Amino acid sequence: RSDGLTSATGRQEGQPDSFGSLRGQTAVVTGGGRGIGRAICLELARAGAHVVIGYRHNRQEAEETADACRRLGPDARIVEADVSDPASSKRLIDEAFKIHGRLDILVNNAGITKDTLALTMKMEDFDRVLKANLYGAFSCSQAAAKYMLRARYGRIISISSIVGLHGNAGQTNYATSKAGIIGMTKSLAKELASRSITVNAVAPGMIDTQMTEAMSGMAQSVMKAQIPAGHAGRPEDVAAAVHFLALPQAGYITGQVLGVDGGMGA
Ligand code: NDP
Repeated sequence: RSDGLTSATGRQEGQPDSFGSLRGQTAVVTGGGRGIGRAICLELARAGAHVVIGYRHNRQEAEETADACRRLGPDARIVEADVSDPASSKRLIDEAFKIHGRLDILVNNAGITKDTLALTMKMEDFDRVLKANLYGAFSCSQAAAKYMLRARYGRIISISSIVGLHGNAGQTNYATSKAGIIGMTKSLAKELASRSITVNAVAPGMIDTQMTEAMSGMAQSVMKAQIPAGHAGRPEDVAAAVHFLALPQAGYITGQVLGVDGGMGA
C-alpha cells in the first residue's frame, strides 16, 4: 500500500473497528488500582482492551478495578509489581505479554510524592520519588519496547505533571521526576518512531484523587485558585487523553506532552 496512513496507524483501510476502539489489544497500567490509574484501566477496557493492572501494596483495590473492567467486557488481570525495582517492572511486563501473547499499550502511571522544601529534603526522599516515578517509567518502557519492537507496533504513555513543566515549591523531587519523564519520552519517541511505536506523555494539572487529598486544605485552595477552568479535574479527564494517545489512529503523534489541566499550563 502506498498511503502513509496505513503504515503509521497499523490499520488497514476498511477495517471495521470504529474510531476509539482498542478491541483485542493488551494494555498494562502501572499503579492501576485507584485514582487516575483506575480511571485509565476502565477507559481502556471500555474501548475493548484487555488490561493488566500493576499494583504494589493494595491487592484489594486492584482486584476491584479488575472486576469493574471485566464487567465492561474484556479480560482484566492483576500483577503485583513495585516499579521502583527494575526486576519487578520486567516481571510485570513479561507476565502481561505471557497472558495474551501481545503487548500493545503501556501506561506508566504509578507515582508518589514526598513533599518538603528543598533545604529540608532528605536525599533518601529525593531518591525514593525518582525511583518510583522516573526509574519505574523507564524500566517498564524498556521491558515493553522489547515486545513492541518485535511486533513493530506499540503505544507508550507516561503520566507526567504540570509540575514537571513549571516546577512547584516543595516538590523538587517530584518535579524532577516528572520533568525527567518528558526527556525520556522525547528521546524514546525518536528511537522507536521508525517501528511504529509512539511514546507520549500526559501532563495533568490538579486532579481530585487520594494524592491531592493528601495536600493541606491551604495548598489545595492555592492550587485551585490558579486553574482557569475554576475547578480541579477528574481522573476520567486524564483517562480520555490516554485513550486518545493509545489509539491506532494517533500513530503520527509521538514525543508530545499533552496537558490536561483546565488551562493552567496555557
Ligand atoms: P494515587 O496516589 O491515588 O495512586 C497512585 C498509584 O500508584 C497507587 O495505585 C500506588 O499504589 C501506585 N504506586 C506508587 N508507587 C508505586 C510503585 N513503586 N510501584 C507500583 N505502583 C506504585 O495517585 P493519582 O492517581 O493521583 O496519580 C497517578 C499518577 O498521576 C501519578 O504518577 C501522579 O504523579 C500523576 N499525577 C497526579 C496528579 C493529581 O493531581 N492527582 C497531577 C499530575 C500528575 P500503592 O498504593 O500500592 O503505592
